[in-house]
Amino acid sequence: MERKIIKKLKAIVGKDHLSIAAEDLLCYSYDGTGLEYPPAAVAFPGSVEEICAIMRLATSESFPVVPRGAGTGMTGGALPVKGGLVLVMSRLNRILDIDEENQVAVVEPGVINGQFQDELARRGLFYPPDPASRNFCTMGGNVAECAGGPSAVKYGVTRDYVLGLEVVLPDGSLMHTGVRTAKGVVGYDLTRLFVGSEGTLGIVTKITVRVIAKPEATVTFLVLTDSLKSATELVPVIMKAGILPCTLEYMDRTAIRIVSTMLPGDFPKETQALLLIELDGDEQTVKSQSSKLWSLLDGKAGVLETRQAGNSEEVEMLWAARRSISPASFKLKPHKISEDVVVPRTRIVDLVTFAEELAEETGLVILTFGHAGDGNIHVNIMLDRDNAQELKAGIEAKKRLFEHVIDLSGTLSGEHGVGITKSQFLEMELDETSLNVMKKIKKAFDPQDILNPGKIFSRLPESKKD
Ligand SMILES: Cc1cc2nc3c(=O)[nH]c(=O)nc-3n(C[C@H](O)[C@H](O)[C@H](O)COP(=O)(O)OP(=O)(O)OC[C@H]3O[C@@H](n4cnc5c(N)ncnc54)[C@H](O)[C@@H]3O)c2cc1C
Repeated sequence: MERKIIKKLKAIVGKDHLSIAAEDLLCYSYDGTGLEYPPAAVAFPGSVEEICAIMRLATSESFPVVPRGAGTGMTGGALPVKGGLVLVMSRLNRILDIDEENQVAVVEPGVINGQFQDELARRGLFYPPDPASRNFCTMGGNVAECAGGPSAVKYGVTRDYVLGLEVVLPDGSLMHTGVRTAKGVVGYDLTRLFVGSEGTLGIVTKITVRVIAKPEATVTFLVLTDSLKSATELVPVIMKAGILPCTLEYMDRTAIRIVSTMLPGDFPKETQALLLIELDGDEQTVKSQSSKLWSLLDGKAGVLETRQAGNSEEVEMLWAARRSISPASFKLKPHKISEDVVVPRTRIVDLVTFAEELAEETGLVILTFGHAGDGNIHVNIMLDRDNAQELKAGIEAKKRLFEHVIDLSGTLSGEHGVGITKSQFLEMELDETSLNVMKKIKKAFDPQDILNPGKIFSRLPESKKD
């Protein structure tokens, strides 16, 4: 990046908030994928006006700008694959409004999801989208990826809660979308277009969300099974029985093994998989749904044991273990190809069986876990990228997994997005017409392709990705 541009950027954000120091460039080269693309500079804007000015400069000087939250994205969305400026949103971190009567809140994009949750809980309110990364990911990143989480099975994902947005467009103009009301159908739904747009259409600078009353009671169950098949077969059975859990997660035996020291109590040695089930609502509903669940599981083939968490400490341990699977997976291998495919609930058994067969055939360690209640399965193909043979086998396994998911009427991503790691597979799922419409939308917002270029639609050389 030319010195004159650096000078202008410093004039906009202040010299303390613009860095070209090697250590900063290194820190902002990574995200949750572990892939590395260094930027030319990193800016930490402190206001929407500064972001508008940066985008006007980027438009006139034609340099790439990549918005970034906490960098926990799993598909490379925040990576500056074409260099340029990384725009870190961490200074825009205020909760601007919590309107308890209307159950609406307004936050800046750098607010951490978990901090927002805690602030709402103090007022008896609840914002359901709860990615396992909630303690460090940002609300802006959640909007850009349409984040989900364990609660999605009952409460839906980010797009179900965002009412309106303030967005800086690539040319530096400021746009307001959506409403602050429960309903609103004036014009096209630009809010929904931006949710899940992966930072390619505009930079989100304010987020208006609906929040709901915090459920009165929650109970947590752990169901231990003798096979992965038994565990995953239970999922549609539970839902069909009229039980609507607020979370229905599962772990396979490898996932259990890597977080075993965090799990409360001892498990029978035959345990091959587990379900983590939570029921919430008013006391009466939770009670009746719980007894329905107990009787459904009682004596069910494959169920070794059903336990109810006795206290909040045990619940915390279970969730800490669940949230630790992804980081703990690196105990197995230094790298992974991490996918978050979705299939209809009745096809989960088929998908996890296929993943087990794939592991056996390729010799790779493949663990699966995740949001079984909505069919969103995290498939982690563990490998060492420096081992050419393993990398080749991993890439092939990913392709075969995707083909199988499409055959099962599934989708390639439930919550992690496309970024750079799935871009070459879009044609598997999208027809040519919709792909072309999407490209035209990108062009309409960003004719110079300066905002987060190289994402969703571009194919990068294979060596630079998984
Ligand atoms: C251990 C772990 C567990 C995870 N569990 C889940 C899970 O359960 N559910 C889930 O959905 N995801 C999960 N993720 C993925 C990730 O946390 C989410 O995608 C999250 O929403 C990313 O937020 P971030 O702040 O880290 O965004 P980043 O990674 O910094 O950015 C993600 C994308 O958002 C764009 N972006 C960021 N801020 C803005 C902005 N203000 N305006 C426009 N674009 C912006 C970036 O350009 C990029 O394309 C997990 C990740 C990890 C590491």
